[in-house]
Amino acid sequence: MRSFEVVVVGAGSAGCVVAARMSARHDVLLIEAGPAALPEDLRQLSRPIRPPYDWGDTVDSDCRELKYARGRVVGGSSATNGAVALRPEPEDFDTWPANWSWDDMLPRLNRIEHDLDFGDRPYHGIGGPIPITRHARADWAPFQAAFAFGCTAAGLPYCPDHNAPVSTGVGAIPMNRQGRTRVSNAAAYLAGARDRVTVRADTHVARVVLAAGRAVGVELADGTVVRAGRVILAAGVVQTPLLLARSGLAEPNPHVGRHLTDHAVVSFAARIDPDTVPDDAPTLQVIAKTTAKRRHDLQLTPVARRNADGTRELDISVSLQLPAGAGTVSPTGTDPSAPARITWPFLAMPDNVRRLRAGWRLAATIARESGILLDARDADDAAARSDADVDDLIRRTHYAFYHGVGTCRMAADPADGVVDPMGAVFGVSGLHIVDASVIPTVPRSNTHLLVTALAERWCDLHAA
Ligand SMILES: Cc1cc2nc3c(=O)[nH]c(=O)nc-3n(C[C@H](O)[C@H](O)[C@H](O)COP(=O)(O)OP(=O)(O)OC[C@H]3O[C@@H](n4cnc5c(N)ncnc54)[C@H](O)[C@@H]3O)c2cc1C
Repeated sequence: MRSFEVVVVGAGSAGCVVAARMSARHDVLLIEAGPAALPEDLRQLSRPIRPPYDWGDTVDSDCRELKYARGRVVGGSSATNGAVALRPEPEDFDTWPANWSWDDMLPRLNRIEHDLDFGDRPYHGIGGPIPITRHARADWAPFQAAFAFGCTAAGLPYCPDHNAPVSTGVGAIPMNRQGRTRVSNAAAYLAGARDRVTVRADTHVARVVLAAGRAVGVELADGTVVRAGRVILAAGVVQTPLLLARSGLAEPNPHVGRHLTDHAVVSFAARIDPDTVPDDAPTLQVIAKTTAKRRHDLQLTPVARRNADGTRELDISVSLQLPAGAGTVSPTGTDPSAPARITWPFLAMPDNVRRLRAGWRLAATIARESGILLDARDADDAAARSDADVDDLIRRTHYAFYHGVGTCRMAADPADGVVDPMGAVFGVSGLHIVDASVIPTVPRSNTHLLVTALAERWCDLHAA
């Protein structure tokens, strides 16, 4: 294959932005392991995504194996995710190097969006590539409205715009969607640059090719070498550290594949009046942000479970947004197709379990206050359970939210991370990482908008 000025590995949330923007000035090849696109019906929100459009990873958590979804298609996880478009909070940047502050990032968060509801506010954007919209309150399904009512009865304020800088409480979810179709970064960024970017789908990169301390290209799984002036890894929080390991770059840097942080989740569920769940109700409409110990360390999201016997349940997922502890990602073999080994120690941290327990009890209170439970004893019994009983339930039923970051974290000092504040891999020239893996710690939000804004900022820093 011919050589390129720039090779971007991974066409996900970040890779689509970087390839599209760099292609304005450079000859860019974008390589993606997964297929060129999702089938039309899977672009609809609420359709489960499985291999071959997902990597099928699992994590080892407290003796349980949890699913750890990752998109594997042009668009990456932005093509398979829930389209929840929540922004990080200003304090989330406290763990980042100095030139990645909220003030640096807000202009990028504004630039990437076309906020159809609040675009005229100074802290929002209009005209950007990602449409952001919220379900109007009048259109909320009855069970969603009842959840919001339960939240306010439990003391949470109503929040019209969760993406306003100091918002709190319960309100509509900002989402990157058009109707019920998710708008991935393949649609938002890459589609407009398709005549400039060479895209190779169904092509697995095995490793980075190095010569005298410089990245000079990539080797594909079939042994083909593609020469490049610059290599940009955007393969995501699981695959980017594996690429570094297969390239011989993990041994000299102990931070590769470490510092994985993510949100841990547990659900409270109780039977509700089936009439509150219309057949065509969207899966997601309302979300609540609240605090167990540190500001907004809990996120509560209601969905309706439709059981085969015709019964309906309100399922409130309680997500721990600022977990203590960190996991790891490492290779299980040298073959590029060998799966990752991912460790997830979050439930080993007593403080994490304590905060999840508080969130689970709050969810039970909200459910009772919602007024739609078929039997209020479902909530009362939950409230009466002992701490040990709730902790046991959390251990048995918790799951992952797929917002992992940190496995190639950014740091000012080479002793503390994998990339410098310009995204350059320490000790190697011509090699950058731009994806969720460089984010030092998981933010209080879902991660797609943050990864997109990170990629925009990286392009600005490199005048791409
Ligand atoms: C099921 C799911 C639901 C989610 N829901 C939300 C949500 O509602 N809101 C939100 O904000 N965030 C959500 N997230 C998280 C968010 O989507 C991710 O944090 C974000 O997309 C990560 O972007 P990225 O660029 O780092 O990686 P990705 O978008 O995952 O992109 C990495 C790409 O690299 C490719 N790749 C990997 N290795 C190789 C290789 N060796 N060779 C070639 N290509 C390779 C992958 O196939 C993939 O396409 C969700 C994630 C998942 C998986």
